[in-house]
Amino acid sequence: MQRLSKQCLSIIQTRPQNSHKGTFGRTVLVGGNAQFGGAIMMSAEACVNAGSGLTTVMTDPSNHPALHARMPEAMTVDWNDKELCDSVLDSADVILIGPGLGEDKKSQDLLSYIFQKQKEDQLLVIDGSAITLFAKGNEQLPYPTQTIFTPHQMEWQRLSGVKIADQTEENNQKEQKKLQATIVLKSHHTEIYSNQGRFQNPLGNPGMATGGTGDTLAGIISGFLAQFPDTVDATNAAVYLHSYIADQLAHDNYVVLPTKISQALPYWMKKFE
Ligand code: AMP
Ligand code: MG
Repeated sequence: MQRLSKQCLSIIQTRPQNSHKGTFGRTVLVGGNAQFGGAIMMSAEACVNAGSGLTTVMTDPSNHPALHARMPEAMTVDWNDKELCDSVLDSADVILIGPGLGEDKKSQDLLSYIFQKQKEDQLLVIDGSAITLFAKGNEQLPYPTQTIFTPHQMEWQRLSGVKIADQTEENNQKEQKKLQATIVLKSHHTEIYSNQGRFQNPLGNPGMATGGTGDTLAGIISGFLAQFPDTVDATNAAVYLHSYIADQLAHDNYVVLPTKISQALPYWMKKFE
């Protein structure tokens, strides 16, 4: 297993003078039911700050006013408006589904809908409750092509069937081979299993153990996938920078608020360009 180092951030390059928002990708974030709106808001804040050219949040309409107030840079789409959802998804480069999605019938229908809509050249990030739903409904759903799963250990247990105590490198690798996706297995030392190898993140701290840290990571991964070419390189850089910034914040913060990680992203991306 390869230990990630600062070297993985070398994909963050100075932006070309003649670039425009289209250069940095269109990201669609799907999640946030009436109860868990905060999760998708944190993903959106992370995605915008990570530099996605355009970020659209497909969510329950009850979240729209808060989203607009908090993140005017992101657009919102009512996830009940199929026509609008169809057109927004058509032009997406990256789709994230899961943060605050919930596990009810509506959530399951949305996951199936996204799987049906997803095109060959679109990247799909599956996080949180979407992993649990996927694990439950595995057989019925078509398998999307370029997928990144971001489970914590319990979600990985549900997805792979490997109990937390048995989540060894060898067992995890076997399951990655079956899924043929990139797996970001989150823990105090996050591991990435991919077709291009296995990586371990040496950074991170217990201040990150608070709700929303994973939603923020999912937003950064999506934002990086939208603008940097290689899926695994972009995922590794996102995982590393998320923890790197959290470690900086932990010098003088007992708890690392996920939104503070997001707000510090543009500064640190500039430092590493
Ligand atoms: P989630 O459980 O989806 O909110 O994801 C939690 C995020 O916080 C993951 O990125 C974990 O790697 C990170 N995290 C949580 N606790 C720790 C810890 N004690 N040390 C390092 N990273 C942590
Ligand atoms: Mg999570």
